[in-house]
Amino acid sequence: MQFKDKVVLITGAAGGIGIAAAKAFAKEGAKLALVDLNNEAITKAAESINSKEILLLTANVAKEEEVENYVKKTKEQYGRIDVFINNAGINGEFKNITEQTVENFQHVMDVNVKGVFLGLKYVLQVMQKQTSGAVVNTASNGGLLGAPGMSHYVASKHAVIGLNKSAALEMAPYGVRVNAVCPSGVNTEMMRRIERNAMGDQAEVARKQFEASVPMNRYATAEEIADLMVFLSSEQASFISGSYYRIDGGQGATSV
Ligand code: NAD
Repeated sequence: MQFKDKVVLITGAAGGIGIAAAKAFAKEGAKLALVDLNNEAITKAAESINSKEILLLTANVAKEEEVENYVKKTKEQYGRIDVFINNAGINGEFKNITEQTVENFQHVMDVNVKGVFLGLKYVLQVMQKQTSGAVVNTASNGGLLGAPGMSHYVASKHAVIGLNKSAALEMAPYGVRVNAVCPSGVNTEMMRRIERNAMGDQAEVARKQFEASVPMNRYATAEEIADLMVFLSSEQASFISGSYYRIDGGQGATSV
């Protein structure tokens, strides 16, 4: 129960990784504030989480007033924020740059970059005053490598790594730690969408190809990502900040 009575705020909480993170922190005794765009999905997700204290908040992370509001509501309910899992993200539509639309590019930037920035902006105000807190930003192996057809997503996740480093430096004097996770493919709805996007009705073939590109020959489970998030938020990671962690079955070791 290393997070007993600690307040953990998670965005994208109705998605595969968000739910796994919520369950992992709940198991450690945390009080939860769960944010998602999808009201129905977040309500359903909460039913599967074994925690006495859950605050459900519907918000679009790309809209400043909605971010300000989810942070304000969490603070009103619990009085503090100990851990922030800045996780909401979208994959956008696959297209090479020459075919990509400005609208699709902008949408991915709005959610994945502006959303992460706004979350940091408002949550770090709270943590700075507390002089304590831990943030985990969900980047991706796409924050470290290129991927054809995914320039928008890759650019957005590289930006998350940049935000992560700068926020960590700004917050170090206040005892607030900021780190990121960089998963390869994780077995969630996002990969189902990417498989369909890549190969349409041959999605199962796409899945086999994606999995084969990982030395361990499989996707990560959402629970494996959640375990890393819990570790980075814990006292055991007390001297880790500004770092980003590959969690990719060895995929990153195949490049420099
Ligand atoms: P998911 O699609 O299962 O969940 C994403 C959740 O974010 C959904 O519940 C969705 O409603 C929510 N969301 C989307 N746009 C939002 C917005 N504007 N405001 C608030 N909520 C919004 O995906 P996931 O696999 O759980 O992904 C979570 C994070 O992990 C994302 O940032 C993603 O880029 C990252 N990631 C995923 C993978 C993967 O293979 N699944 C790999 C690397 C990184």
